[in-house]
Amino acid sequence: MAVQGGRCHRRAQGSGRAPRFARIQRLCQARGHDKPSFPGHFYSGVGLDRADALRRDEAWVVARQRDPESRVVLVWRNRNLICRAAEIDAVWLRIGETAVLINGGAEPVFLGRDGETAVFAADLSHLPEAEAETLAAAHGAFEDLRAVGPLMPRRNGAILAYARGLLYWHRRHRFCGICGSPTVSAQAGHVRRCTNADCGTEHFPRTDPAVIMLVHDGERCVLGRQKIWPPGMHSTLAGFVEPGESLEEAVAREVYEEVGLTVSTVTYESSQPWPFPSSIMLGFRATCAHAPMRFATDEIESAAWFTRAALRASPEDESFRLPRRDSIARRLIEDWLAEG
Ligand SMILES: [Zn+2]
Repeated sequence: MAVQGGRCHRRAQGSGRAPRFARIQRLCQARGHDKPSFPGHFYSGVGLDRADALRRDEAWVVARQRDPESRVVLVWRNRNLICRAAEIDAVWLRIGETAVLINGGAEPVFLGRDGETAVFAADLSHLPEAEAETLAAAHGAFEDLRAVGPLMPRRNGAILAYARGLLYWHRRHRFCGICGSPTVSAQAGHVRRCTNADCGTEHFPRTDPAVIMLVHDGERCVLGRQKIWPPGMHSTLAGFVEPGESLEEAVAREVYEEVGLTVSTVTYESSQPWPFPSSIMLGFRATCAHAPMRFATDEIESAAWFTRAALRASPEDESFRLPRRDSIARRLIEDWLAEG
């Protein structure tokens, strides 16, 4: 199954990003690196303190929702509010400006703290299209982040992706999967709790893990394409991890299912949040002996071995192009190209 689309994950308890980042930074410095070796993928690097302890404090959350300094980003049916003034960017509204909307049913979820400023996201999907367009017109427009993400400041694109992914999860989990009763948002939007007193199950945001892998034999790598992709686009193989399967096993299975090759080594490279709608892409390299491929035509339209020279000569047009530049797929290919 090819993906670069996804779901969201229960956070480690009690540690916001800032302390975790500082810990990693200290570790890196101890190992002689100046900076953490994060690969800096698009849609990563949100950089907000997710304030796990504070967001459990209802009084603190309500106070932040009433604080004129708090900011909110808006989402309407998976589209983020984007401005196109001097540059393409996120629209940060003061939470007071959205009070009417929020009172009308757009319950804000807490994303984190930017310094002392609380940042929320609110979902306006309940509004009819004309109303949403009218609202957006004063600031910009509701747009698909995948279309504009690569053109935005990186961190703001990451925050909008986070907002979109978290709000998508809320829309899809309005009812308890155990007893079918309605659920309500809790912990500032990081839990949904079943309203049936006999059940009371807490449901947490989650992420669907997907593996994405550059398969190579040292000199050539495997790229394939799906019929639904833009004309000419070729990319690495990918697929969702199945229950009871390690990541390495998922890589080997997907490669075999999609192109009939048996991999011999699998090594982890890096990961990219891909909340479109709810995945995390786990990037790998896999080696295998050069061999003819047989591909499952229901998933892959074509697949082939490509030399570095062939990829460097890519015309980037409808005859052949590499994957979008905000994708980990592109990064896996470019890192491999840089080595030979
Ligand atoms: Zn329930």
